[in-house]
Amino acid sequence: MPQVLTARDVTTLLNSGQAIPEGALLTPTARDLLEERRRRPDAAYHAAAPAALAVVAPSPSAAGAAIMATVPDYEFKWTPGSDPKTPAEIQRFFTSPRLEEIKRRMCDMGRRLWLKDFTDGNGGNITVRVGDNLVLCTPTLICKGFMTPDDLALIDLDGRQLAGNRKRTSEALTHLGIMKRQPAAKACVHAHPPHATAFAIANASVPSCLIPEAEVFLGKIGVAQYQTPGTPENAEEVGRIGVDHQAILMQNHGVIVWGKDVEDAYWKIENLDAYCRTVAIASGLGTGLHQFGPDKLKDLIDLRLKLGMPDARAGLKECELCDNSELRPAVVVPTSAVAAPAEPPPDADVEALVQRITDEILRRLAAK
Ligand SMILES: [Zn+2]
Repeated sequence: MPQVLTARDVTTLLNSGQAIPEGALLTPTARDLLEERRRRPDAAYHAAAPAALAVVAPSPSAAGAAIMATVPDYEFKWTPGSDPKTPAEIQRFFTSPRLEEIKRRMCDMGRRLWLKDFTDGNGGNITVRVGDNLVLCTPTLICKGFMTPDDLALIDLDGRQLAGNRKRTSEALTHLGIMKRQPAAKACVHAHPPHATAFAIANASVPSCLIPEAEVFLGKIGVAQYQTPGTPENAEEVGRIGVDHQAILMQNHGVIVWGKDVEDAYWKIENLDAYCRTVAIASGLGTGLHQFGPDKLKDLIDLRLKLGMPDARAGLKECELCDNSELRPAVVVPTSAVAAPAEPPPDADVEALVQRITDEILRRLAAK
């Protein structure tokens, strides 16, 4: 029988500088503890058990558990009905270690958005749901690349600010429009990545069935009709589209995505902009775009569902799956079709001279 280690066993081993024994099984709490230690750069885990997760168990099922243990889960979970109520409770919750960790991760993702040129000026915003009626959000008028945890605000699902020194972003309403309707949306990121935004302003639908990873991680890309940013109308429109789409082009504006945690959502912005960039480049090659077809898309939708991401296409028939994009590839003129230089326009003086000569010849012929 393999040895089963609880969180307390793991703590004792790591604190005494010992490695996790080969073949040992970990309880879920022990696994979480190891993950937490691995995430923290100062953790004893690194010195004591650098390869522990790779050698946890010999049996296939236990090996599966070991693989699961190597996938960190940053989703913020809470007990329904447990939201803090009084101002003092809310303040305590807002400055608790759990929320400080989420705030740091939001600042990290903001930095990555800015470094990737996905936001400009004070553009973009980030939210993370942390309760039945509680959401952390970025403040208004701040560059996402240089936020600190103290800049973030706590709001309810109607957008009322509950804590934080800086005023929340007006575009939080758009994020809340999604979160109110789609409980799986635990984090939203809005940005203006140039390639995806180019599709949004050109009113070009993004074609599907081109790159498998995009189908798995983005699902079908939604389009929200233009509404003024920060208004209830925009929240209504984006929220409506967000129920069935994790990645949304906001017409004439930018994109918004949602995920189970803030990094998951951030990844989708990267995926979306990379996809749009690649499609734009490919459409300029002049050969047309090769789609892999609905039967293959079905496999990818199944994979997406297995990874825990909802997909409204799951119930559709194959013939309804690969939409025909209206994207028109950029026109590339082959060299053989390049027209010869056009003839120069006729000179008016020469025309008049030819006419006079012709008239004179005709007059003389008639006089004979
Ligand atoms: Zn915006």
